[in-house]
Amino acid sequence: MPAKGKLITLEGIDGSGKSTIAKSLASNPYFSEFVFTREPTGSWIGEAVNRAIHSDTDHLAELFLFVADHAEHISKLILPSLESGRHVISDRYSASRYAYQGMTLQGRFKDPLQWIQDIHKEWTIVPDLTILFDIGPMEAVARCGARGDKTKFEKVGFLEGVRNNYLRLAEENPSSFVIIDSDRSTYEIESDVIRTISSHL
Ligand code: ADP
Repeated sequence: MPAKGKLITLEGIDGSGKSTIAKSLASNPYFSEFVFTREPTGSWIGEAVNRAIHSDTDHLAELFLFVADHAEHISKLILPSLESGRHVISDRYSASRYAYQGMTLQGRFKDPLQWIQDIHKEWTIVPDLTILFDIGPMEAVARCGARGDKTKFEKVGFLEGVRNNYLRLAEENPSSFVIIDSDRSTYEIESDVIRTISSHL
């Protein structure tokens, strides 16, 4: 049996620069054996998630679409890849749900962030390392302005709450979270990310 691969996830608010770094890592020969993936996935369930994100869908229904996509992602790609010994890097993963739907479901549950974590228990695969791209929401939204495909989440007040949820998760899971200051050049961020990943393998 090959050694199990490690699961590394890239998290942060919209515009924090995760996808830019994920693309750059994917073309770096150091990561040629890694599996690169993202959530929402490209499956039909992921497409349904994208429909929800771009419409006025009930927030609980939206959460369950995300969760269904996560389950499909784990069984079809994440688990088989890790079991075959390959390392996986996912652009967004479970913490996105905890942080974003932890905001959209405020008022519906006493502690939505905790409630959403609880429904993932015993079946999700917990990442070995989560890199949190941390940036102020004003800067992040300004960056998103340059991008065509906007979601309903890209608003400063909302992203402030999402950022706070991410920081709470990092505080509660200090052994698996690493926070990277993302209000810097892509080059500086990428160097930090590569150093962080290699020190965790
Ligand atoms: P995310 O995947 O976190 O939503 P993206 O990687 O799509 O963020 O980046 C959002 C926008 O910000 C893109 O237009 C991208 O070119 C730009 N961007 C990404 N990283 C930086 C950076 N370090 N400095 C300035 N602009 C950036």
